[in-house]
Amino acid sequence: MEMVIRMKVIDLTPRGYCHGVLSALAMVKKVIKTESYPRPIYVLGQIVHNEKITKAFDAYGVISLDQKGKTRLEMIEEVNSGTVIFTAHGISEQVINRAKEKGLTFLNATCRDVYKVHKAIKEKLDEGYEIIYIGHRNHPEPEAILAIDSKIYFVEDEKDALLLPNELKDKKVFVTNQTTLSLYDIDSVLKILETKYPNYLFDNEICNATTVRQEAVVNQEDVDLMLVVGDKMSSNSNKLAFVGNKAKKIKSHLIGGVEDIDLNWLKGIDSVSVTSGASTPTIVTNEVVEFLKQYKENDPNTWDHQTKLNILDIL
Ligand code: SF4
Repeated sequence: MEMVIRMKVIDLTPRGYCHGVLSALAMVKKVIKTESYPRPIYVLGQIVHNEKITKAFDAYGVISLDQKGKTRLEMIEEVNSGTVIFTAHGISEQVINRAKEKGLTFLNATCRDVYKVHKAIKEKLDEGYEIIYIGHRNHPEPEAILAIDSKIYFVEDEKDALLLPNELKDKKVFVTNQTTLSLYDIDSVLKILETKYPNYLFDNEICNATTVRQEAVVNQEDVDLMLVVGDKMSSNSNKLAFVGNKAKKIKSHLIGGVEDIDLNWLKGIDSVSVTSGASTPTIVTNEVVEFLKQYKENDPNTWDHQTKLNILDIL
């Protein structure tokens, strides 16, 4: 009798939607259902970073203004009527004011954890601190933060940290960060800041949802492969793969869904774990888990990994 080769599949928890994403999605759904909100419905960017969600809302007529390279302030100029929803990543006062000036109806889906960073920075500015903010370029969360004050120093990596002015060492320095980073990659930046400004005050603002998902990756048993289900634009999803590869030393791949699995990754392995970013629909991750559970390397009948999901199932 032919031996059946099946992998061990570990479904990590927690994974998937966080409170900020759930609230943002609920807000868009409410606007779709409520006819008194003026049409068309716009989202200034992607409501959360997941292309499948954006496409599903698109099927309901929601227009996501997601043009790469354009700021939120540039995007709002393209809206002249209807309802605008600001995304979970935060929005600057300048954009809110512009929406008011244009007489638009708007709703703000900014996550409360992102608000917390805005508040902390404003308070420290009032107290006379110089602000250093660690984040990712071309991401909407830093865009809104940097609009708080033109004097905020933005740092993405060690190179940026080394270029910061030495004169700051005689001033009060407050360091904080984007909510969806990992301590593993900002550690090297913090080490440089410690040498430049030994008395700096650090407020770690990696949100709880990001932290506990990363901890689940770090604390898992050793496996041959980890698949992270999430969008390539999603910072927290990218970080899960980063933490898997760098901190846990497990070969980790970021996939948008079951259709992105490369069967070569599964050849000869005994175990695989699955996690997903905070903006990844559970139904998409479940499809990945179910595929892996039934997959057998020596049975071609189990190899079909095209998604069976209808785009409207996503929401
Ligand atoms: S990942 Fe964190 S900051 Fe982003 S929406 Fe979720 S809870 Fe909020």
